[in-house]
Amino acid sequence: MTDLPQATGKRLGLVIDLDTCVGCHACVTACKAWNTEEGQSPLADTDAHGAHPSGAFLNRVHSYEVTPHDGTAPRIVHFPKSCLHCTDAPCVTVCPTGASWKRAEDGIVLVNEAECIGCGLCAWACPYGAREQDPAQRVMKKCTLCVDRIDNPTLPQIDRIPACVRTCPTGARHFGDLGDPDSAVSRLVADRGGMALMPEQETGPVNRYLPPRDKETELDILAPLLTPVTEGPKGFLGWLDRALEKLG
Ligand code: SF4
Ligand code: SF4
Repeated sequence: MTDLPQATGKRLGLVIDLDTCVGCHACVTACKAWNTEEGQSPLADTDAHGAHPSGAFLNRVHSYEVTPHDGTAPRIVHFPKSCLHCTDAPCVTVCPTGASWKRAEDGIVLVNEAECIGCGLCAWACPYGAREQDPAQRVMKKCTLCVDRIDNPTLPQIDRIPACVRTCPTGARHFGDLGDPDSAVSRLVADRGGMALMPEQETGPVNRYLPPRDKETELDILAPLLTPVTEGPKGFLGWLDRALEKLG
């Protein structure tokens, strides 16, 4: 119903290091603060400090206890999740009004809230649960990669990155052009065996995740993680299970 660009000049996205994320939620807080106060996709919280707070988030961190099959001690994996700015974004093509769209110059997926009728089809189509309807405004919200920061020439260069990346205290979040094989983020993905989230969904997610390192083995054992796994448990937990099994 809504067309995607044939190709994009860049493929801007995030690289998130699951080895160094400590689950502190600083990225969630920074995202919420930036977008509530002055962001491109302002979030209409209600009763934020009362008994019944309500609102939407563009970025969440989920934490899982994972028990390895080899009987070694369980470990906690913190998993930040936001829009992955998919190349073949089903949230865009399903949109009946053209409110969801993908920027041709850099691939960022955005919502034109003036055209959003709040039908929820895009949230239904997204296999990652990356969209949330603002309960007060009744329009769809999602990560914008902070276009109002990266496009803002009045900000110092150091601040022209997403608020979550600027804030992360452990340097677990990286931003750049994943369509350029020589970019810093692409080299990081190549060096660390970065993975797409659930590639079997065939949405072409741009964001990449760097898997947790084995605590006792050298990094080069991570190379097999580059091969997408299509068998076994499905969904996010299946993906995480397979990623950690490789480290066994
Ligand atoms: Fe759309 Fe979901 Fe992909 Fe983001 S992660 S582009 S919301 S399908
Ligand atoms: Fe993880 Fe960084 Fe987000 Fe903290 S700010 S939860 S370390 S990604």
